[in-house]
Amino acid sequence: MAPVVIILLGPPGAGKGTQAKNLVDKYGIAHISTGDALRAARAAGTELGKQVAAIMDSGGLVSDELVLGIVRERLKQPDTAKGFILDGFPRTIAQAEGLDAILRQLDRKVTRIVDIQVADAVVRGRLTGRRSCGKCGAPYHLEFSPPKVDGVCDKCGSTAALVQRADDMAEKVDARLVAYHQVTELLAGYYKQGGLLAAIDGIGNMDDVFARVVKAIEG
Ligand code: ADP
Ligand code: ADP
Ligand code: ZN
Repeated sequence: MAPVVIILLGPPGAGKGTQAKNLVDKYGIAHISTGDALRAARAAGTELGKQVAAIMDSGGLVSDELVLGIVRERLKQPDTAKGFILDGFPRTIAQAEGLDAILRQLDRKVTRIVDIQVADAVVRGRLTGRRSCGKCGAPYHLEFSPPKVDGVCDKCGSTAALVQRADDMAEKVDARLVAYHQVTELLAGYYKQGGLLAAIDGIGNMDDVFARVVKAIEG
């Protein structure tokens, strides 16, 4: 397959991270999650991490300049040469325009935009039940995809407790949905004209949703 540049759009909890990991396994391409990058910066206690902490905890969006800086740097890494998935980026029109400029410099183009559609009520249940392995970060859901053996991570075998993101607490989820509907949802309009946008139903079991994602990518 020629190098792909895939954008996963959709509300928080749509399954972007879950499906991005499936795509990495299937195609061996790089996974770029600005949310993961920002959380890593916070965990490392960098200046950038400190700068974004309050905004992330409030459920708002961090500045376009900052996020574009992260993506620009990340795309210099050689593992992106064989293609990559953008998960949780772009989230604003300014970020989409910035991405276009970065890709032009790299002589790359977006090849597919998959908009994973999930209603707010479903998103709420997914986010409040979302957990990850305290050791390796493997994703779980208390109800929809718990570890196979209770208390043991499928991926790394750790018996460390599953952790919940602070912004996945019920009271934070509404603010994130507001940001999504007021700002990020406008991206569907931005990308509509290029003919690369495919909307898929994000409801159903994870394998079925993955089959839709693959179909949207391979045509
Ligand atoms: P996003 O990256 O879009 O915020 P995630 O991939 O982290 O979303 O998924 C949010 C939560 O919902 C996770 O706990 C994940 O295990 C769960 N999840 C993902 N896809 C599905 C699905 N098709 N059905 C049920 N739960 C799902
Ligand atoms: P989810 O997909 O569950 O909403 P992410 O992990 O993608 O969560 O993002 C977590 C938080 O990080 C967001 O609520 C926001 O504060 C910040 N963030 C991540 N990506 C971006 C982005 N592209 N632009 C602005 N803020 C972002
Ligand atoms: Zn683990």
